[in-house]
Parts: sequence; C-alpha cells; structure tokens
Amino acid sequence: MSRAVFFDRDGVINTLVYRQEKDFFDSPFSLEEFQLLPGAAEGIRLVNELGMLAIVVSNQPGIAKGNCSLEMMEQMNEKMRTELAALDASLDAIYYCYHHPEGNIEMYRTVCQCRKPKPGLLLMAAHDFAIDLKLSYMIGDRLKDMQAGRKAGCKTIFLNNHPDPKEHLSSGFDYIDGSLLEAVRQIYQLEGKWISLSIPPTPLR
Ligand SMILES: [Mg+2]
Ligand SMILES: [Zn+2]
Repeated sequence: MSRAVFFDRDGVINTLVYRQEKDFFDSPFSLEEFQLLPGAAEGIRLVNELGMLAIVVSNQPGIAKGNCSLEMMEQMNEKMRTELAALDASLDAIYYCYHHPEGNIEMYRTVCQCRKPKPGLLLMAAHDFAIDLKLSYMIGDRLKDMQAGRKAGCKTIFLNNHPDPKEHLSSGFDYIDGSLLEAVRQIYQLEGKWISLSIPPTPLR
C-alpha cells in the first residue's frame, strides 16, 4: 500500500484572496489571483523525496456558485503544476469537490459525499492509489480539513496561518504548524528523518 500527504489547496499551497465587498477570504478565481505561498513548492518536493504521494483535496464551491469556470480551474491547475515543476515539486493527483448545497449551477447544487468536512475526497484517492490512510497525513488551514482528515483516519496537521482569526483552532488536530513547509518538517520528524531547512519558522498567530 502507498502512503500520502493530503494537502488542502487555498491557504496551504496558494494564497487566499480578500474580497472587500464581502469582507471575506476566498479562493482565487483567476490566474492573477492564483499565487503560490512561499515554501509550498519546497515542502511538496520534500514529500516527493520522502516517497509519499502528494495529493490535493480541496472544496471548490466557486464552480457550483458560478464564480469560476471549469476551464479556469484547469488553467489554475496548469499554473500550479508549472510553478511547482520549476522548483522540482510535483503533485500526484488533484481532487476537487465542485458541489455546494446552495449553488446556482444546477448540476453542482447537491449535498455530496466529497465536500469536506466529509472524507469523500480522501476516500476516493485512497481507492484510486491504494493508500493506507492510517499512515497518511492531512494538512489544512480550516476545521473542515481536520475533520475530513480525522474521519478518513489520517494524522492531521493544522496550519494556524489563516488571515481570519475566527478560523484559528486550539483543538481538533494532532499537530500544529505555521506553513506547509513546517508541516512537512513535522512529518519528517515523525518519520524519523532529518532535514535542515534554510528558512526560519513562521511565527504562529
Ligand atoms: Mg484552505
Ligand atoms: Zn462534492
């Protein structure tokens, strides 16, 4: 069986986008808005080097809500993969939930089994790649990510870096870090592997 590190996308791999009109931190809906976070590529490369699968599991209800097209989602994937590849990092798979129970687009307006906090995306990946979930990790920046990871049986690492303090957690996860790269360093420690990182740790908010 294989092992995986599951990554939430927005706020973990790429920056969140502040929407002033809604006073809300949102997913990117254009290529300009899609920006990798510092250290994300290095962290994913280290997961590649560890021999674990690097898999994105992300709610993208912007599709159901009509905020983003599938074509744009594909273009953002392409940008993400290209920029990661430039730093020798690669994702083994990307799983999105496009649904929302109150979406405007009928085909995606549904109560699905894949929207986190449900573990559906992780279970699908586990099925496709024969992943031992108990020996795998979920890294995310919101409670939903931790709940999905837990339900799937993974170890959970919370990134306490959300720009909205309401999203900060004090429980519900196994480990806490400030960035994807630090979370991967945590995984190396748990795996008994040694790495030195050139960047200093991000202070926790
Ligand atoms: Mg997120
Ligand atoms: Zn779904």
